[in-house]
Amino acid sequence: MVKVEIVRGNIASQPDIDAVVNAANTRLMPGSGVAGAIHSAAGPGLAEECQALAPIAPGQAVITSGHRLPNRYVIHCLGPVYGVDEPSDQLLGDCYRNALMLADQHQLSSLAFPAISTGVFGYPVDQAADVAFAAIAAMVPTLRSVQRIRLVLFSAPDYAVFEAALNRSGLASTD
Ligand code: ADP
Repeated sequence: MVKVEIVRGNIASQPDIDAVVNAANTRLMPGSGVAGAIHSAAGPGLAEECQALAPIAPGQAVITSGHRLPNRYVIHCLGPVYGVDEPSDQLLGDCYRNALMLADQHQLSSLAFPAISTGVFGYPVDQAADVAFAAIAAMVPTLRSVQRIRLVLFSAPDYAVFEAALNRSGLASTD
């Protein structure tokens, strides 16, 4: 069974998780928000490894090692810029689907996501939460290795929005 959970915290401080997801930019370089936190915790080796994999397109996901992070891997997803990259719900769902597919292909058992696209990229948090859980719900029956999916929310209001969406999704009781 796959457990889907939400926590409030920092995506770069999830030591019990095999891979953390980076809300990346197209060049896979350090930036603000999630990308800044992940690259500064991982050290410069992460940006070096990323160079060969960039650029990526909205919805795409690529995997690297975790370097100095407490996680074995980082899965870098480029979310859609809200109102620019269309259809935004499809592209945001692709991030979750592609990241879960990569994690399963690498036989990982746990994966933690930030709220992709809801920072600088401007995606409304309530809509992003529904897209995230719909994509996760559709993937769960296909997963063979992944057993734990965590959403890490930075702020209390975002946590509350994701909590409500998780309860609506029917995934909350999956244990
Ligand atoms: P994007 O460019 O995809 O919008 P951001 O990194 O700007 O990505 O923000 C995505 C979400 O992650 C926002 O809701 C932001 O508040 C949150 N966030 C920022 N820093 C962290 C962090 N260290 N851990 C978890 N979430 C974070």
